[in-house]
Amino acid sequence: MADRIECDVAIIGGGPAGQAAALALSGHGLSIVVIDEQPRPGGQILRQPPARFAVRGWLEERSYRPLKQLLGRFQALDDIHWLGSHSVIGLQRGSVMAMGPEGVTTVTARHILIAAGCHDLAVPLPGWTLPGVYAAGGIQAFIKGQQLLVGNRILVAGTHPLQLIIAAQIVAAGGSVAAVLFAQPRSAMVAALARHPLAALRRVPDLLATAAALRALARAGTPIHFGTSLEALIGTDRVSAAQTSAGTINCDAVGLCYGFVPQSALPRMAGAQMRPSGPAGGWACGHDDFMRTSVPGVSAAGETTGVAGAAAAAAGGALAGIGIALDLGLISLEAAEHAARTPRRDLAQHRAFAALLDAVADPRAYFPAPSADTIICRCEDVEQATIAAELPVCQSANAVKLATRCGMGACQGRNCEPSLLRMMAKAGNVPETGFTPRFPARPVSIADLLPPQ
Ligand SMILES: Cc1cc2nc3c(=O)[nH]c(=O)nc-3n(C[C@H](O)[C@H](O)[C@H](O)COP(=O)(O)OP(=O)(O)OC[C@H]3O[C@@H](n4cnc5c(N)ncnc54)[C@H](O)[C@@H]3O)c2cc1C
Repeated sequence: MADRIECDVAIIGGGPAGQAAALALSGHGLSIVVIDEQPRPGGQILRQPPARFAVRGWLEERSYRPLKQLLGRFQALDDIHWLGSHSVIGLQRGSVMAMGPEGVTTVTARHILIAAGCHDLAVPLPGWTLPGVYAAGGIQAFIKGQQLLVGNRILVAGTHPLQLIIAAQIVAAGGSVAAVLFAQPRSAMVAALARHPLAALRRVPDLLATAAALRALARAGTPIHFGTSLEALIGTDRVSAAQTSAGTINCDAVGLCYGFVPQSALPRMAGAQMRPSGPAGGWACGHDDFMRTSVPGVSAAGETTGVAGAAAAAAGGALAGIGIALDLGLISLEAAEHAARTPRRDLAQHRAFAALLDAVADPRAYFPAPSADTIICRCEDVEQATIAAELPVCQSANAVKLATRCGMGACQGRNCEPSLLRMMAKAGNVPETGFTPRFPARPVSIADLLPPQ
C-alpha cells in the first residue's frame, strides 16, 4: 500500500454525494481518489454487505432504486481510485491523511471534496449507556451491512419518522419490534406537514415509502404510539425494559431516533465556515452556489452541508463536481452555469422537503431529561451533574471541556457536543461555536503516526 498518493481531486465519502461528484468529474482525464472508511461504496443509505456475502433481496424497496442506479454507474467508472477501509483522520488545504489497515496514507490533491455524510444524534437519558442501547441508524447499519439483528425484541423511540422505516426493516429481517414510540403527539406532526404541503407533494416516493413501512408494521402487529416519551432505560447487564410516559415496555434492545447531525469534524478541521444545522443540533458546512467552502480548494456536499436526504446529497455532489471542474479549468463558467441548473433546482426542492422533515421531527421539546448521574460524555464518563456544576463559570464549550474532560475522548466530542450545547443554552448561554476541532478525527495509535523504522 502506497503511503503517499498524489491526485487532482480527493473525494472523502463514497455515499450518494461523493458518487455524484465523481460521476460529474469522470471523463475529464483527472486522477480522482475516493476515500471511505467503509470497504465498499454506498454510504449510509446503501451500506453494502461484504463482497463475499450472498444476500438475496438486499434493500429491494422502490425508494432505493434511483440510488442503486447511481451506485451502479459509480462502480462502473474506470478512472476512479477507490480507497476503501480508510478513515480520514486529518485534513488541511491540499492534503488528506487517511488511516487504513496498513497504516497512514497521505493524499495530496489540487482539490478536496468533503462528502462525509451525517451521523445519528446521541441522546443521553438514564440508562442509555447500557449494552443493547443503540442509535437507531446503528441498528439499521447492522441489518443493511451485516444482515444482523441486535436483539429479539427491539424498542424504537424518538421523534424522527425514519424510525418507521427502520422498524419495518427490523420486521422484514425477521425481528420483532416491541413498539415504535413518537415523543411528539400525532397532531404536531400533522400540523407540521400541513404547513409545507407543496414540499410534501414533491417527494411522493418518500411518503409512499413511509406508508409502506406503516402497512408492514400494521401487518406485524407492531404498536405505534404518539405522544409517548422515553424516561429511562432499565437493566443490569443489558437493557431489559424502557420506562416511558405511558408505562414500562419490556425489550432487549433499544434504538434511539431523535435526528441526525452532519459529520462536521473534517470541514471544521480545515477551517471552513460552519453554521448551526437543523433542530437536532450540530454544525453544517457553509458553501457557495458551486458547493465551495470558505477554504480555497475545499468543497463540501451531501449531509456534511446539512441533513437533507440522499437525493439532496446526490444533487449537491453533482453540483460540487461541476464547481471543481470549473475551478480546475476544465469547463467554462458558461458551461458550468448551464450544467448546474438541474442539480441546483433539485437541491432547492429536496432542501424544502428537508425543512418539512425538520419540522415534523423537531426533537427540541421532547428530549428525555438526563438525571444528575447520567453520563453525557461516554468516552470520558462525565456525568450531567459534573457539567452542570461548571456551567455558571464556563462560558464556552472548550472551557467546559478543560474543566470536566467532556469532549476530550476518542470521539472528539462528536457524541456529547450537541448535548453539552443544549445544556449550556438551557443555562442561558448560547455559544457561537462548539469544541475546537482537534486532530485526529478518528482514534489512531501513536505507532501508526510514526514514520516507518
Ligand atoms: C446510520 C444512518 C442510516 C441512515 N439511513 C437512511 C435511510 O434508510 N433512508 C434515508 O433516506 N436516509 C438515511 N440516512 C440519511 C442518509 O445518510 C443520507 O440521506 C445519505 O446517505 C446522505 O448521503 P451522503 O453522501 O451525504 O452521506 P453518506 O451516505 O453518509 O456517505 C458518507 C460516506 O463518508 C464516509 N466517511 C465519513 N467520515 C469519514 C472519514 N472521516 N473518513 C473516511 N470516510 C468517511 C462514510 O463511511 C460514508 O460512506 C441515514 C443516515 C445514517 C447516519
